[in-house]
Amino acid sequence: MSSTTGSDFQELLKIIRAACDLQAAAALLEWDQETYMPEAGTEARARQVATLQSTSHELFVRDRTGELLERLKDEYEDSMSFRASIVRVAARDFARARKLSPELVGEIARTTARAKESWRHAYGENNFDRFAGDLEKIIGLCIQKAEAIGYAEHPYDALLDEYEPGITAAQVKDIFDDLRTSLVPIVHAIECASQPRNAFLYYSYDSDIQWDFGMEVLRDIGFDFQRGRQDISSHPFSTSFSTNDVRLTTRIHERNLISGLFSSLHEAGHGMYEQGIDPELEGTSLAQGTSLGMHESQSRLWENQVGRSRSFWTSYYHDLQRRFKQHLGSVSLDEFYRAINRVHASPVRVEADEVTYNLHIMLRFELEMLLIEEKVAVRELPELWCDRMESYLGIRPEGDTDGVLQDIHWALGAIGYFPTYTLGNLMSAQVFACAKSELGNLDEQIATREFAPLREWLQANVHHWGRKLSASEIIEWMTKGGISATPWLDYVRQKYSDIYGSLILGS
Ligand code: ZN
Repeated sequence: MSSTTGSDFQELLKIIRAACDLQAAAALLEWDQETYMPEAGTEARARQVATLQSTSHELFVRDRTGELLERLKDEYEDSMSFRASIVRVAARDFARARKLSPELVGEIARTTARAKESWRHAYGENNFDRFAGDLEKIIGLCIQKAEAIGYAEHPYDALLDEYEPGITAAQVKDIFDDLRTSLVPIVHAIECASQPRNAFLYYSYDSDIQWDFGMEVLRDIGFDFQRGRQDISSHPFSTSFSTNDVRLTTRIHERNLISGLFSSLHEAGHGMYEQGIDPELEGTSLAQGTSLGMHESQSRLWENQVGRSRSFWTSYYHDLQRRFKQHLGSVSLDEFYRAINRVHASPVRVEADEVTYNLHIMLRFELEMLLIEEKVAVRELPELWCDRMESYLGIRPEGDTDGVLQDIHWALGAIGYFPTYTLGNLMSAQVFACAKSELGNLDEQIATREFAPLREWLQANVHHWGRKLSASEIIEWMTKGGISATPWLDYVRQKYSDIYGSLILGS
């Protein structure tokens, strides 16, 4: 490298590090807001977070960054070195950020701030009309945003790219079509089968004992408490301020034995991704999960493939039973395993089991596509929502609160976000199947609490890379193919045939 490009690179790196530091400070303020901040601090906190985020953004999108990237551009092709990867990813981020005018960014921020409020009122009053006007504006702004960013085939591609870089709406549609064709008959077959009893999960379970059990599980699976912690919040989430400071939150319900544990496992899956990133990338824009879908694959893997498996409970059930003798003393391992995997169609996404969950996501993706193509009007959404819910899940929401208004995502302007949940579920099965074939006796390892081989395999094959590789590149490298619904469907058929009887096969 010449000394000029060497100092150009150092200057670029300095800008990136400063922008990342400001983002991390904003994330810390947000974490604090959700965990310990007194409620009266809300207004000031919103302002402080916005100041840090916009300062970070302005620092990065300056002309100077563009000049440096221009001078460094010949050096990053086809190399996985630290330097080449920093320049490559920064060039992508910069190009995207510069395509959005400050006027459009401002308009989106103002509209979504208002929409969050109207959504909250509409949700509370079960009245979609209250939110419809703001949602119309948001859809219009998202279309403008897509046009500004540009796309090869479909405006939705430009929106999706923010959350799942490199995948197109057409690819998502193909994957989802495959999935839906097989999944709807599976769900219908399960609905006709006899349901395992699960009332014992909703007796009263001491919160402190639940917390201690969850902490023991997190330690066992290898979430590093020297470089992270867990706290309580009303909506569980995970965040990180560096790869050495990763925060999880959970919530514990006294009358639900499993919701706290599975949300802890889920968030720890996200957290271990962040902790597993190559230390060389620390403090730069490469030190993040590569996409929301890949991030979700890691949380779902620990929550479902591991946490809801028979092997896992072969090891842990005895321990849980000992802690809650009164309620679980007469419940067998088999009954418990079937109960925690019970499939039950609910109109509400966040209450969905792992089998029906993806149908909730497909419905949202299809409606988003129709909105962006301007083929349906916002006012038609409540009816369309209910019709599709009925055809996929056989249930009709009673009102808007349980239907079209249930998620905050659209009020935040996050069109293109939902598909990443299902992509994450599908990738979790692809990644897990690959780990299983390479690690051999994975079920046995899980049954004996030997989690290090799996965790280290995930670190080497997924976490380590940060944003150096895209999700598609990781999957391609691992499976010699693209993102596919097949491994997830195989997993579901096998597991739920065992639970519900061999009635749900078919292909
Ligand atoms: Zn998640």
